[in-house]
Amino acid sequence: MVFINTEEAEEAVIKEDQWSYHYTNTIAAGKKKFFRCNKVKARGKQCDAGIYLLFESTNDNVVLFRSTSDHTHDNIGEKPSRIPTEVKTIIQELFELKLKPKVIIEVLHERGITPSSIHQLNNFLRTIKSTKLGPTSISLGEIEQWCLESSQSIPESDDAPFVASYQIIYDDDGDINERSFVFLLQQKDFYKLPRYQKKTMLTQHIQ
Ligand SMILES: [Zn+2]
Repeated sequence: MVFINTEEAEEAVIKEDQWSYHYTNTIAAGKKKFFRCNKVKARGKQCDAGIYLLFESTNDNVVLFRSTSDHTHDNIGEKPSRIPTEVKTIIQELFELKLKPKVIIEVLHERGITPSSIHQLNNFLRTIKSTKLGPTSISLGEIEQWCLESSQSIPESDDAPFVASYQIIYDDDGDINERSFVFLLQQKDFYKLPRYQKKTMLTQHIQ
């Protein structure tokens, strides 16, 4: 399907009401904007069905491509947990007491509960932590979007950081694993700062 401009293409994608922006790749032919099936969560296994828009580099045309795979989102469920709900509640309580996983297992033992394996327990503790603190990972597409947004306007506040410069390198066959990011964060009063402080800030950003 070929559209004559970006608005028409984006509108067609929105109208289908099943796609969420996933990531963008740039190849010689143009920019490929990928959308994932939004019947599954952004984190974790994705539905096989997907689409992308190709913004042709030589003209204004936008071409919609569809994956040949059918939707598989019905088969992607959350894996049934082998830790019973009552035990989960107890683990959560012990976690709140800031006990270490090893100690939690011991306490479960003492209470006559067959403890889960340390691996299973660690997985569950990670889930608790991430629901408390929000997701700890960010997709490459999100970083790209963030770089773009943060580089467009310089914040009014002197000490709010912004992206001073960024570069995203793609390889030609569009393999996302081969992408690399370089970005430089800066804040407005950076040049007014004493030299030693600049050095510390740059080091922090690199980490
Ligand atoms: Zn799907």
